[in-house]
Order: sequence, then C-alpha cells, then structure tokens
Amino acid sequence: MKGAVFIALNDMIENDYGMDVWNELLDEVKPESKGIYTSAKDYPDEEIVSFVLAISKKLSLPTQDVTRLFGFELFKELNSKFSIFTEQKDDLFSFLDSIEKVIHVEVRKLFENPSLPTLDCTQLSESEMEISYHSPRKLCFLAEGLIQGAAEHYDEKITLAHETCMHDGAENCIIKVTIV
Ligand code: ZN
Repeated sequence: MKGAVFIALNDMIENDYGMDVWNELLDEVKPESKGIYTSAKDYPDEEIVSFVLAISKKLSLPTQDVTRLFGFELFKELNSKFSIFTEQKDDLFSFLDSIEKVIHVEVRKLFENPSLPTLDCTQLSESEMEISYHSPRKLCFLAEGLIQGAAEHYDEKITLAHETCMHDGAENCIIKVTIV
C-alpha cells in the first residue's frame, strides 16, 4: 500500500485526536517504517491493518467504522492533492464512473504494480448507481468511506447499501449508492 494512504491516516489521527494518540499508536503497532512515510513508496498491507485494529481498540469503535472513517478522510486528502479529477467531473455519478476509467488508468501510468481494486459502475437510474467492487485486499469499507467523501465534495446526501460482500464469501461486493 502506498505511503500516501499512511500519511492520510497519520493526518486523520493527529487532526482529530492529537499527536499524543498518534505516538501511542506507533508504540503499539511498532511499524517497520517507524511512522515515516513517503507518498509514492510501498509499505506492507499488514501495517495498515495493524493501525486499523489499534485505532479501533483505542477509540472503542468497530473496525468497519474506523475503516469507513478513514476512507472518508482519505478522499479529502487525495482530492486536495489531485483535485484535477473532481474538477473534470460535474457530478457524483460521473466522478464515480471515472475512478476506474480515468483515475486508475493514470495511477497505473505513474506507479508500477499499484494493486488497485476494480470498481465497475452501472447507473440504474437518475439517483441510483450500483458499484461492483473487487480487490484481494477486501477493503470495501474503505471504498464506502471514499464514496461518502466524494458525495460530500459534490454536496450530495447518499445512502449506501452493501448488497453482497466479499467478507461473506461473495466474488465481488455490490455497493448500491442512492442519492436522497
Ligand atoms: Zn464488502
């Protein structure tokens, strides 16, 4: 997983809970990186999983909620650095549709082996979109948070229904996004 993701996690914890909490988490997780991350470098996936578990314990929140919250913050972080992608799209659904078709294409040009998830979007109606998510990392709750972050950016209220889930043995997660 790219350093950029860890940097976003570090920012989220420091901004919301303070530097002390981040340092306590580092003491607990003891990452090989010692918490110093470079945006484009790769770090072990297990490290992010250990952080999520440690945060969940420290804040007494379910890991799924921590992962969603993190996705929401990650969207803001990525959008502040790469705002061109949201600038190019006028609404939430065209943005979501561009993740696979435009953003991931660009990311693959920049990085070797970025191991991205696949997100197939099907618009069902003016207010409904179905997203089929697949990734060996099964970070579908991170995807939920990212979608919520994008919805906030476009000033849309949405509901998400996780209709099938890889965590329950499905091949893909089906996430239905409804604008309310
Ligand atoms: Zn899922």
